[in-house]
Amino acid sequence: MLTGTVLRREGGVYEVETPGGVTGAGLPGRMKRNDRSGDMVVVGDRVDMEREQAGTGEAWSIVRVHERSTVLSRRAPGKAPRPKVIAANLDQVMIVFAAANPTPHLRMLDRFLVIAEDAGIPSVVVVNKVDVAGEDEARRTFAPYEKAGYVVMYTAAKKGIGLETLREALCGTTSALTGPSGVGKSSLLNAIQPGLGLRVSAISEALNKGRHTTVTAQLIPLECGGYVADTPGLRELGLWEVDRQNLQFYFPEFTQLRDQCRYPGCTHVHEPGCAVRAATDAGELDFGRYDSYRRMFTGEDEEWR
Ligand code: GDP
Ligand code: ZN
Repeated sequence: MLTGTVLRREGGVYEVETPGGVTGAGLPGRMKRNDRSGDMVVVGDRVDMEREQAGTGEAWSIVRVHERSTVLSRRAPGKAPRPKVIAANLDQVMIVFAAANPTPHLRMLDRFLVIAEDAGIPSVVVVNKVDVAGEDEARRTFAPYEKAGYVVMYTAAKKGIGLETLREALCGTTSALTGPSGVGKSSLLNAIQPGLGLRVSAISEALNKGRHTTVTAQLIPLECGGYVADTPGLRELGLWEVDRQNLQFYFPEFTQLRDQCRYPGCTHVHEPGCAVRAATDAGELDFGRYDSYRRMFTGEDEEWR
């Protein structure tokens, strides 16, 4: 028996990294029949394999999938909303924004953070291009996130700033990298490992050109250990699956205040005596963050989905 990590999937063939190298594997017929959703084995899964059983067409057959520590899903195409798993066992999501050029769209950052919170995956905010905006300005812009308790890293791929910290965070872990285009994701990855960013953007491009249903993540092994997941579908995750009642728990800075609201079960949108709104009015909570919460709660931002 052989155990490995699923790096990618193409049709019915899984590319699995094992201690002895990368091998192809298939699903035995009985598992395949139970896998109508295609979610039984996904990128990032740890799988046990046995020598080929009749009919898989590959050298190895996947006989068991290990329990997943995390699951990242997106909305499957089609009328009835249902989740489609895009990656399993991610340790963290690195959300990359530029301090400037392009101007950071913080409300979009809030969306990414909520999606990661909902999946129970820790996120790290990476603020790149600090050479353009200046580090002081970058720190001011992203202060609400540090205050909320998120790890925020300040980098400049071009100037080699902050790369050691980023490297340490990536090595030995399985991380998804996401963020708007043009913020420097490929540049950062290339600075960590030459060629890595190129590979990731080539894959993104190939996948984005492909049919919608083929857009899945792939894991790219890091020389220093661990993997970077390229998740082209991450921006399509949307909030469709987030229960509105849970939304407030995905804003860590609300935690201390929630108990002080007059009404238990306060949604912090319209109730009198709301401590969250009072703190926002007093400038103790960041207005932008509160506004993101309110807009997500009321569904005002549908167009983002
Ligand atoms: P991606 O779309 O997020 O992968 O972004 P790229 O890595 O392709 O970078 C977009 C542009 O920003 C390129 O022209 C890069 O050379 C530039 N860039 C990336 N990182 C930095 C940085 O730290 N500082 C500056 N000034 N430019 C950067
Ligand atoms: Zn409240």
